[in-house]
Amino acid sequence: MPSTLITGIGSLVTNDPAQGTGPLGLLTDAAVVVDGGTIAWVGPAAEAPAADERFDAAGRALLPGFVDSHAHLVFAGDRTAEFNARMSGQSYTAGGIRTTVAATRAASDAELDANLARFVREALRQGTTSIECKSGYGLTVPDEARALRIASSYTPETTYLGAHVVAPEYADDPAGYVDLVTGEMLDACAPYARWVDVFCENGAFDGDQARAILTAGVERGLTPRVHANQLSYGPGVQLAVELGAASADHCTHLTDEDVAALAGSATVATLLPGAEFSTRAAYPDARRLLDAGAVVALSTDCNPGSSFTSSMAFCIAVAVREMGMTPDEAVWAATAGGAHALRRTDVGTVAVGARADLQLLEAPSHVHLAYRPGVPLTAAVWRAGVREV
Ligand SMILES: [Zn+2]
Repeated sequence: MPSTLITGIGSLVTNDPAQGTGPLGLLTDAAVVVDGGTIAWVGPAAEAPAADERFDAAGRALLPGFVDSHAHLVFAGDRTAEFNARMSGQSYTAGGIRTTVAATRAASDAELDANLARFVREALRQGTTSIECKSGYGLTVPDEARALRIASSYTPETTYLGAHVVAPEYADDPAGYVDLVTGEMLDACAPYARWVDVFCENGAFDGDQARAILTAGVERGLTPRVHANQLSYGPGVQLAVELGAASADHCTHLTDEDVAALAGSATVATLLPGAEFSTRAAYPDARRLLDAGAVVALSTDCNPGSSFTSSMAFCIAVAVREMGMTPDEAVWAATAGGAHALRRTDVGTVAVGARADLQLLEAPSHVHLAYRPGVPLTAAVWRAGVREV
């Protein structure tokens, strides 16, 4: 693969404070050299070395590709009617997941694969170069295993979410379902998964059940992440911190103790404003978490029920407008923050040796991601050095 010099970068977000100003490590009049799929050089355009090929950014902004650390993309079916009803006055409960479960079970492998491919491509066109993908719409041993097998051909960030809700067959025997999730289903899924997740919520799994599920996953070599404190206060965040989870996701209803626990831990608070937007719910208080010192990530939660967006730019705009984040904080959270939530050091940054995952904006500054909501600003995308968009 020939090396490429990307020069004429009006504003470059590196997320490396050693390379530029502020937490974003901002550089102006910058250049980047991409070679062999990784970043080979970063610095002032005037000092850039030669490369085989040259791309002129013409003064536009370049930043790391988005790292979307929370998505549910292996599914079939459509929930337009449910959304329409909710926007006409009904409230969101965890039970709607079962609608997608029925459609997903009925779908062929090829149909699920094609759906996932379409969503990954849709996200890529909007600047997302890393994406996490959960199971959780099968809820049987073969259906959960095939979801993860299909997902693992698109991303290394695969998450076993057999504990999304109790499978309908076990409605009267939730303990029996937890036994399945921690036993035979885990055995079938672990080979295709990096992470284990649980929806710790009223109507899904309580603290004791969540602990059993996450602990069983850890014993099989998976690392925990938790759907925590989304719809109500609860034990999810404390459990995530106690078990050393990579992230506690949603964090919409937090006590002072929950905030302190996150701030004092390596567990990232992953905020998913698409869910609150799409359910007309109150947003999480990002400012409170940031001021306490917690690491915050932004992600789409892309799923057909409660947040059917793959747009990280949309999440940035909402986080800035509604959640007290500055544009710099929101852009960091959608790139480096997501990398932290996935415990990745090779993405979410523009530094020598990092994977060459880059997005060029049709704008002079990353601030336009919040300043111009809803406008498709992605001008070019490179993933592992390959121009994809
Ligand atoms: Zn989710």
